[in-house]
Formats: sequence, structure tokens, C-alpha cells
Amino acid sequence: MKGAAQIPVSDFFSRLLEEAGYKGVFGLRKRGKGKAFYSLFVDSESLKELDPFFPLMPQNAAKAVSRFTFHEASPHKVAVILRSCELRALIELVKLEQAELDNLLIIGVECGGVLPYEEVYLKNRAEEVYGAYMDALKKGELFDGLRPVCKACSRFWPENADIVLSHVGRDEPVFVFQTEEAVDLAKSLGISLDLPAQRSKASFELEEKRKAFEKTLVEEVKSQLTGISGLLSLFGRCISCHNCSHVCPICYCKDCFFESATFDYEAESYERRVAKKGTIRVPMDTILFHLGRMTHMATSCVSCGMCEDACPMNIPVSRVFKVVGDELQALFEYVPGKSLEEPLPLTTFRYDELHEVEDA
Ligand code: SF4
Ligand code: SF4
Ligand code: SF4
Repeated sequence: MKGAAQIPVSDFFSRLLEEAGYKGVFGLRKRGKGKAFYSLFVDSESLKELDPFFPLMPQNAAKAVSRFTFHEASPHKVAVILRSCELRALIELVKLEQAELDNLLIIGVECGGVLPYEEVYLKNRAEEVYGAYMDALKKGELFDGLRPVCKACSRFWPENADIVLSHVGRDEPVFVFQTEEAVDLAKSLGISLDLPAQRSKASFELEEKRKAFEKTLVEEVKSQLTGISGLLSLFGRCISCHNCSHVCPICYCKDCFFESATFDYEAESYERRVAKKGTIRVPMDTILFHLGRMTHMATSCVSCGMCEDACPMNIPVSRVFKVVGDELQALFEYVPGKSLEEPLPLTTFRYDELHEVEDA
């Protein structure tokens, strides 16, 4: 039966390595003041640097897990610690045949959200605000300094994880064992599941606060997303660096069409466009790139915020993709990362749908 237990975080992961036959633990490693990155821990000593709650997403971890399971499943048992949006992205990548879950024990973090890159890397503020961030997490309050998509994220409970590391509304973290495999693991380690397998009241309250923020965010983006002129004003300063697609866990093409020779224009092409339009903006095709990216992946966008963090021009990329993604996903009645069984809308043909497009 499902249940929960309060165990010191590094003790639990050490026991996985030393007693349960796990060869590795993948998670956030904090090193030095305000610095953190993902690591594969293979011994108990290094696990002292594991800090799953540190408010930074150095990359969407689903991309890292995809790298080491792209060709085949992990040959060894590995525990991977993911935030909720990272787990949802991983499920999408499994469906896209770019990751394997076999041999992975999924530990999901009940996510308090993360800070923008700028705050962590440029202003070096992560350490300074970490205490206040953890206090807010323990009380289930909406921490003000989070990235906008995190403040608007109501799906922060990783529903598909084997085990949830829950800290919202709790002074100490609690491990919630959600699947049969996880419960068997607890039994084999002699962990008694004497707490109920449920979210705290503060966690549900935080969900409501985030939904309220989401409503404002969506209204704000929609007021700017007004046809092609709205897109131009939102993406007008885009320099076509494609950072947003390189860091996106869902941008699945191994060879991106927008980086292919198709877009290496010869002088003649520029001349033709100048003759037709007069003065042209360079780089060209920035809106085409964003629209193309949207049509490829917006049904699977998990609103993780990576694209916005990586944008050097401070364009609200993830907010736009969230709003467009939410609408498309609702249209196809699809929730990315919810279920491995639910087929991807892009690979599913339904004869009887979208008739309004035919009539338009
Ligand atoms: S979007 Fe932010 S709050 Fe939501 S799961 Fe991801 S990191 Fe956490
Ligand atoms: S488009 Fe942006 S927010 Fe959506 S999954 Fe990709 S990186 Fe995350
Ligand atoms: S990261 Fe920003 S500047 Fe670069 S392509 Fe994406 S939106 Fe444009």
C-alpha cells in the first residue's frame, strides 16, 4: 500500500547505492556558493553535495536523461531526481523514442520553482535568497523571485514519479512512495511507511495561488499575441541564435530544418526580397522559425521555461509557448507528460476532427 516516510535525503540515496543495488543517482549537485549542476553520483561521499531543492534548472534534466538512454535503456539501476516539468518532458521524449525508462527509478521533486538564470549566473543571488526560498516552500507561499512560468505552474506535483520528494507545507522533506515498485523498495530497505501518501494542505493552496498568477500571465501574453503584428513586436528583437530550440527538451529533431542549408541564402535571394519588399530585416525568417518550432512541438511543450532562460534578448519565449501550447493541447485534448499510453497528437490521425479548418 502507498505510504510516506520522513528520511534524511542523502541517507535515502546512500542506501539506494549501498543496499539496493543502484549504481547511480542523477540529481542536482550544489558546489560552491550559488552554483549547481546536474551530476551522476556513484558514491555516498559525493551525495553530500546532492541538493534537489536548489532553485536552479541548469538544463531540463529530461534532455540529460535522454542523452544516456537514447540508444538503449540504462544497463544498471539508476535513480533520477527530476522536477515535475522535467519528468513530463521525459515522458514526451520516451514517446518520441528518444529515451528509455527501464531500470530508472523516478524520484520527482514537488517543485517550488526555480530562479531565472540571470539572477543565478549574472547577479549571483541564488545563495542570498535560498533561505527565503526554502521558507516560502515550507509554508507553501508563492516565492516572488521565481521565473514567471514557475509562478504560473500548477502542475508542480510530479504525479508519474515512483517516489515524490515532498517539501511544500512541511518543515522536513517527506518521501511519498507512489508506485508498487517504490513500495517494494521501501519494504526491502526496512523503511516503514507510517505517513499518509498525500500532499499537504499548503500544497493545494499553493496550486491555487499559482493558478491565479497563471490567469494574469495568460491574459497579459494574449493581449500581446495579436496576429502577425503581435508576433513581430514580441519576437522583433530575435537574433536567430536558436538557443531557445537547443535547450528545449521537446525540440526533438536531430537535424533542425531551420539550421539546414535551405536557409543559407545566396546573394540573389536577398536581392529578390529587397526588390519585392524594399529594406529587409536581417536576420531574415525569425518569425518563420518561431512558427515552425511551434507547429513541431507546441503540443508537447511542458512550460519548463528553459527557452526563456536561454534567450539573450529577454524575449518571453516560454510564456508565449505556454499560452500557444495550452490552447493547442486543449484542442487535441492532450496533456503532455501525463501518460505514456496517450499517443502524441502529431502522430495521430483522426478522421473526424478540426472540421472548422476545412470550412474556413
Ligand atoms: S515549471 Fe517551474 S515550478 Fe513548474 S515544475 Fe518546472 S521548474 Fe518547477
Ligand atoms: S518550448 Fe520552452 S517552455 Fe516549452 S518545453 Fe521547450 S523549452 Fe520548455
Ligand atoms: S533564444 Fe531568443 S534570440 Fe535566440 S532564437 Fe530564440 S527567441 Fe530568438
